[in-house]
Amino acid sequence: MKTRRPIVAGNWKMNKTLAEAGELLEGLVPELKDVDSVGIIVCTPYTNLAVAKEKLAGTNIKVGAQNLHWEKSGAFTGEVSADMLKDFCEYVIIGHSERRAMFGETDETVNKKVFASLEVGLMPIVCVGETLEENEAGQTAEVVGRMVREGLKGLDQEKAARVVVAYEPVWAIGTGKTATPEQANDVHKNVIRPILREMFGEAVGDGMRILYGGSVKPGNAKELFGMSDIDGGLIGGASLKVADFVGIVEGAF
Ligand code: PEP
Repeated sequence: MKTRRPIVAGNWKMNKTLAEAGELLEGLVPELKDVDSVGIIVCTPYTNLAVAKEKLAGTNIKVGAQNLHWEKSGAFTGEVSADMLKDFCEYVIIGHSERRAMFGETDETVNKKVFASLEVGLMPIVCVGETLEENEAGQTAEVVGRMVREGLKGLDQEKAARVVVAYEPVWAIGTGKTATPEQANDVHKNVIRPILREMFGEAVGDGMRILYGGSVKPGNAKELFGMSDIDGGLIGGASLKVADFVGIVEGAF
């Protein structure tokens, strides 16, 4: 019996106009309104945060963003700070593999963003995961371990307790290839969890949620989320359709 309350977070990525976002949110609210055993989050593009805040006010679905800048304000064209985000949402995805691969994010920038978010009360969902090449070279534990240690470096226990980690093997994201429940749980249980316990103590390390992400679907969610150290999921493509996202949330019951 797991004591950690599971979380299912949708990552909309760069999808949904304002009208489309409104429609998706209106579809989710009635379908999910009776769920209280799972924390539900939708992480929208910046342009949809206001409509998400409005349509999800008073519901059991929380709002998240997909990125932030670590500085408070200033000459950073195109960027958004933690202070600006906190008017709209409670969570923020940090270090998604797409941002690491395409937008130059590093363990160091991830760490700065984690601190910036926690400082204003935003809860970070910190993504870690190895590429196919690294996986095949047997480097999963080394790469994922480094990302966890460097990304969460310097946090005290109080801050760490508010962090959610998402293990997302890059080879499983948007590819239709899902890690097997055993494969994913092995990384959660034998790589990430021991590092969290070592860094933040047993109680805090055991209490932190570790989500799995990578081609989660209604058909495989239950089996994945049933594993001992998989505390829910970060969902990309399937979070864009009401029925699929609802089916995945139901997999976390
Ligand atoms: C993601 O974007 O975080 C993700 C896991 O994507 P998908 O579910 O589409 O593989």
